[in-house]
Amino acid sequence: MNNKILVVEDEPQIANFIKRGLRREGYNVLVASDGETGLDMAFGDLPDLIILDIMLPGIDGLAVCRQIREGELQTPVLMLTAKDAVPDRVAGLEAGADDYLVKPFAFEELLARVRALGRRRAPIESDAPLNFADLTLDPTTRMAKRSERVIELTAKEYDLLELFMRHPNQVLTRDQIYDRIWGYDFGGESNIIEVYVRYLRSKLEENGEPRLLHTVRGVGYALREN
Ligand code: CA
Repeated sequence: MNNKILVVEDEPQIANFIKRGLRREGYNVLVASDGETGLDMAFGDLPDLIILDIMLPGIDGLAVCRQIREGELQTPVLMLTAKDAVPDRVAGLEAGADDYLVKPFAFEELLARVRALGRRRAPIESDAPLNFADLTLDPTTRMAKRSERVIELTAKEYDLLELFMRHPNQVLTRDQIYDRIWGYDFGGESNIIEVYVRYLRSKLEENGEPRLLHTVRGVGYALREN
């Protein structure tokens, strides 16, 4: 489960705002109100994600982040920085944070970052080759084959095909695909999924092979044999 979040924030109002919102979303939330406690909990409770304010009494957020990384803890860190404090953001990323959010922020904005970081460090997926029908995908080389025919894929085409290969015979909705492949930072309505599915199909079926990537009308797509 990728759902234990440690919030290190000394301002009770902000800490509560984050805690309440994330709990409503089903996360297990721990709160530390100073850097020292935050560090103890980071190493003691091994959260899946740390939301870390920079301005903290005692050890500040940058020092906490550095010590987390020096302690070989790979937990994703989302840094909270003061409005417009550009040097803070740079310092945060240099200290080993994975992303930052500028205060004040809307809860939805925080949630989007939390989800994106959860995906990025999602439980490490196996690198073993994936097989479906005559299709093989090798995550280590990012190469696809149909029987012995090698298929050249762009980065996004590969990501999309890998998503289907990891969920064979399952209907993936447009929202799921969009969320997993393009993420929160890709705004607006678009037919990008349709476009990429078309690219993938033309490559997968170049020699007249049977279709594997099927449209499920009104819902999304599925990798299946018929
Ligand atoms: Ca603070």
